[in-house]
Amino acid sequence: MDKQQEYVLRSVEERDIRFIRLWFTDVLGILKSVAIAPAELENAFSEGIGFDGSAIEGLTRVSESDMLAKPDPSSFQILPWRGSSHGVARMFCDIATPDDEPALSDPRQVLKRNLDRASELGFTFYTHPEIEFYLFEKPEPGMLPKPVDQAGYFDNVPRGTAHNFRREAITMLESMGISVEFSHHEAGPGQNEIDLRYADALTMADNIMTFRAVIKEVALEQGVFASFMPKPLVNGPGSGMHTHMSLFEGDRNAFYEAGADHQLSPVARQFIAGLLKYAPEISAITNQYVNSYKRLWGGAEAPSYVAWGSNNRSALVRVPVHKPGKGQSTRIEYRALDSAANPYLAFSVLLSAGLKGIEEELELPEGAEDDVWELSPAERKAMGYQALPASLSQAIDLMEGSELVAEALGERVFDFVLRNKRAEWEAYRAQVTPYELEQYLPVL
Ligand code: GLU
Ligand code: MG
Ligand code: MG
Repeated sequence: MDKQQEYVLRSVEERDIRFIRLWFTDVLGILKSVAIAPAELENAFSEGIGFDGSAIEGLTRVSESDMLAKPDPSSFQILPWRGSSHGVARMFCDIATPDDEPALSDPRQVLKRNLDRASELGFTFYTHPEIEFYLFEKPEPGMLPKPVDQAGYFDNVPRGTAHNFRREAITMLESMGISVEFSHHEAGPGQNEIDLRYADALTMADNIMTFRAVIKEVALEQGVFASFMPKPLVNGPGSGMHTHMSLFEGDRNAFYEAGADHQLSPVARQFIAGLLKYAPEISAITNQYVNSYKRLWGGAEAPSYVAWGSNNRSALVRVPVHKPGKGQSTRIEYRALDSAANPYLAFSVLLSAGLKGIEEELELPEGAEDDVWELSPAERKAMGYQALPASLSQAIDLMEGSELVAEALGERVFDFVLRNKRAEWEAYRAQVTPYELEQYLPVL
């Protein structure tokens, strides 16, 4: 047993932990959990805990349903919402086949494979997300989502639900080792944003999964309902997960070059060019639901066109301005990603697109100064700004032809996502919505 595993065993004993939850995600990024007793821990580390993978979205074929969950001791954390006596802790797991091979369809290992590829090139991939979500009153069947307040961007609502909520959520996140940089009320009624401090992409993907669990727990505790749905309100902004990214070579930020345009190194420029080139075909992963496209095309600062700019909030990729001399914080912000993405797979395709840009030595086009939405279609065409897919259906078609996504996800996950998303689109297409009945029934 290694040192980290021993630390876990000791903590479990000293902290009166009665259950250890083993966490992993399915291909859509939905959190799965199995609880074990402390007596099972040693075995979990050495052999893994067996479970039936065929019941988990995308994890296995039925013919090979037995899978093993192997906990990663470095991710051990006590769950603060379960109280301090008879406590509960969690670890993230890697999924293995019965022959102890990494499961090809485990999103966490998909990301690990992509990070390994980056590290062969000498790069560590850092990310930090700005996570937006809504707080609604507890839903009753048939009720439309009802925001907990009518506040807006950066509003300070004394004693407001959102204030208390953010304080409680951030305290909980910090107690689990997840640092928060900023938090504020967002533009929509009941909409909030919490920004996590940067970390390597694997830690961050784990942190995002924990974040979602914490937000849901705190909401339950406070008698409200939290949702990461990309576009829950017809007339409100969607919930994005803008993600800041950088590559480091050792402890040097490879995106920084003093004195260069926007202080961006050639590596950063090529990385952005890769993101721009591949943005449409990775959309089915960064924006994976039917509803995601209602956010992308709903205005309210969500990007619909492929362009980059500095301080241009209509651009898909934004280069935040930073103080001279703060080279280590040079980074780029990808604004399409939404709060319901599977972070393991989304980071995998974003990294792959950026690295492809470096490999292909892509030229970065001119940055966009204008508000891309305000331009006419002819102007956008002349400037070479392509559109992001307008629907899940278009996104799936583009992904299907994408070698980049196939390679980043591996064949198994690639096929599964396509199948799952096509079924989602077909189920959606079959609906006759209240909107259609209202529009057409009286007059047709
Ligand atoms: N809610 C907007 C979106 O869907 C982003 C607003 C902002 O710039 O923070 O992307
Ligand atoms: Mg925001
Ligand atoms: Mg942002």
